Amino acid sequence: MPAWTLAIIPIVIAFLWLLFRTKKTHKQQQSSLSSEYFKGLNYLLNDEQGKALDIFVKLVESNWDTIDTHFALGKIYRKNGEMDKAIKIHQGLIARPTLPERYRSKILLELGYDYLGAGWFDRAEGLFKEVLIQDEKSKEARHNLILIYQQEKDWYKAIDIAIDLFSENPSVIGPMIAHYYCELADISGGKGDISQLENLAYKALRYDASCVRASILLAEQASAAGDDKKAIKIYQSIEKQDPESMMLVIDSLIRCYTNLAWQEKLYEYLTGLQQRHENLFLQNVLADVLEKSQGKQAAIEYLSGKIKQQPSLAGLQRLISYKQKTADADKVFDDLTTAISIMRQDSIEYRCQKCGFSSNTHYWLCPSCNNWGSVKPCVVEPGKLA
Ligand SMILES: [Zn+2]
Repeated sequence: MPAWTLAIIPIVIAFLWLLFRTKKTHKQQQSSLSSEYFKGLNYLLNDEQGKALDIFVKLVESNWDTIDTHFALGKIYRKNGEMDKAIKIHQGLIARPTLPERYRSKILLELGYDYLGAGWFDRAEGLFKEVLIQDEKSKEARHNLILIYQQEKDWYKAIDIAIDLFSENPSVIGPMIAHYYCELADISGGKGDISQLENLAYKALRYDASCVRASILLAEQASAAGDDKKAIKIYQSIEKQDPESMMLVIDSLIRCYTNLAWQEKLYEYLTGLQQRHENLFLQNVLADVLEKSQGKQAAIEYLSGKIKQQPSLAGLQRLISYKQKTADADKVFDDLTTAISIMRQDSIEYRCQKCGFSSNTHYWLCPSCNNWGSVKPCVVEPGKLA
């Protein structure tokens, strides 16, 4: 018996449910219906799908209430990756001259899913658009069109559709639209069109005031244009948008302060930031700043104190490397440093807040669950010592 026949169980359930439902009203009609249905099921179980489909299509024409069985069957084929069979079912339905209008958009949606599954995006797009003509309010069609445009990186089209959904669910759709504008801003930046880049980044912020990515784009732009003061202001504003994301910009922020030779202000700012957000691991960053402004000894003293309050592999590694250079310690230190740096390379630095996907690389769009802006720096350093 082919393994997929197990998948027929839902069809049998749907079928029994139909039998039960029709029993009370059309007793006679139902008995011939049920014998035909059993025949169809039998073909299915014997893996003769062509014959089974012929019977089901005839049945649906005599009683459109049985259409749910077709949908269930189509879904199973799709789940098994047999898109051709799912397409055949839904195309068969749509071609029926007796098809009642009320089922048309549902079938088009199903067919759209089949095409999506088969990777035929332009055909799927056509169908979902057709659903919108039939049923102007269809959210499902809109969401699928958005997925297609996102896949094709057609950000303007994605924005057009998403804006229709915005007012109903601003907290979910707003961040999506903001990321589309950021994608466009990135493209404009690549072409050197700075005013367009800024324009688009501000649009992103209008749809999502917490869009860290838009702030980063604006700050990078300001810094590239030589306005480090403005860049610092924007980078710092990210703390209000999402404190954890400060870790994404800390190096750039330090570079701006350094360009202005504001070492003391930088130290002050970072100390405050660390106090406001204990979970941000800034000890090595602060040690760096201290080393540059007050020398190695100051950095060592700071780290030796910190490492006891907030033990971390990164801090330990840094401390060892300092001691090694100053106190001429033996080769053990060398090996330790190497071992720790290997451990740290393996550690996960970014994690998706929605699905738990983790990675060493930062993504704006989670490759696992397809959510925008959900991949964030890990707040508790994975290599942290207990
Ligand atoms: Zn995710």
